[in-house]
Amino acid sequence: MSFQMRDGVLHVEGVPLPVIADAAGTPAYVYAATALHDAARSFVDALAPIARKQLLYAVKANPHPAILPTLAGFGFGADIVSGGELQAAQAGGIAPADIVYSGLGKTREEMGAVLDAGIGRFNIEHAREGEVLSALACARGMRATALLRVNPLVDAQTHAKISTALTDSKFGIPYPEAIGMYHRLAALPGLNLQGLAVHIGSQITDLSPLQAAYRRAGTLVAALRTDGHCITHADLGGGLGVSYRAGAPGADVAACGAMVARETEGWDVTLLFEPGRFLVAQAGVLLTRVLWVKPGQPHPFVIVDAAMNDLARPALYDAWHEFIAVRPRDREHFAAHVVGPVCESGDSFAHPRAIDRVEEGDLAVLATAGAYGAAMASTYNARALVSELWVDGDRFDVGSDRMPAALARPQRVPRWMAVSGQRAAVGR
Ligand SMILES: *Cc1c(COP(=O)(O)O)cnc(C)c1O
Repeated sequence: MSFQMRDGVLHVEGVPLPVIADAAGTPAYVYAATALHDAARSFVDALAPIARKQLLYAVKANPHPAILPTLAGFGFGADIVSGGELQAAQAGGIAPADIVYSGLGKTREEMGAVLDAGIGRFNIEHAREGEVLSALACARGMRATALLRVNPLVDAQTHAKISTALTDSKFGIPYPEAIGMYHRLAALPGLNLQGLAVHIGSQITDLSPLQAAYRRAGTLVAALRTDGHCITHADLGGGLGVSYRAGAPGADVAACGAMVARETEGWDVTLLFEPGRFLVAQAGVLLTRVLWVKPGQPHPFVIVDAAMNDLARPALYDAWHEFIAVRPRDREHFAAHVVGPVCESGDSFAHPRAIDRVEEGDLAVLATAGAYGAAMASTYNARALVSELWVDGDRFDVGSDRMPAALARPQRVPRWMAVSGQRAAVGR
């Protein structure tokens, strides 16, 4: 319980949020180290029944450099999807053998850099990628260890934009074509193909789609063995969901561990897991201040200083984040919109809903914002890049500075378009 009301004030561990707002300003992501530990421990415990496994943190959920070393302490390596994430994983001290390179659009340069770094494993998404990877490995006198990503064609029953195994998904090789593709790639001289990978989507709370996907993967493992392939690894992806909304439970991680143990019994492989959201979502909130309360019919607009550029999930996925006053005024709720200052109607965190009654100047948090929050932040509307802080017990420290847009993204004016030139044009 890292985020709790104490004496009428919301605390992160031992630190009252107003103290953080005074020290660091708003908006700011505030992360609780203990919550990260708790999530990692519950994941590790849930998978205790599985003897041969490799745990990988999906870096894209939150690439903050404090996270990887912390999770490494619980046995996690890194699942990366870009050259930038390779650098983040290396900077985080993750050994090459504990890194898996996933992703649909790897460039030749990135694949080369990853091979040169001695990365443990590639998850291949399509035939050409496999062929090019094989050639790049051969040119280096090596073989790339790889898994073939299969699209098991299972609806993850989550938001369409984070479903990855529908018939029209861009990811993986469709289940009916998987065996043929496996034969083809396994024959390439530069690949050491060791098995399959599946990942059907994100924010999955009902385990049955995962179970269906794993069952299909199991069928393929057996079929490929019958065909004479040596299958030693299966990557079961990430996707476990968390509770964003009071009354809407997250995935039951212990039940998931038990289900995986049941479904994979007899596979005789090392299982890989790539959780992202599950590990970090509940470890962070977005701290914000109410700028104005603007009357509206029938509901007022609570205008906060956080916006869609800081937390994109509501605008992107209609995602729900609880809006909680840091110092609730009373037990009363009122129905209001919660919106940011960005000049788009989509910059809204809550369509009218019952929230804590807040007034101008009050602090509040958007809860459960540790995953796909800061990771997606931008400087849209020339707003500063949002800052991050870490809390551990009674201490806190800055994890990233608020960065003015002009510094976060220095842009240059071509010499012939410089200001003096413009003035000249206007004067003509
Ligand atoms: C995004 C992603 C993950 C992590 O997903 P979560 O829902 O955050 O657990 C894991 N594996 C792959 C291939 C991904 O694209």
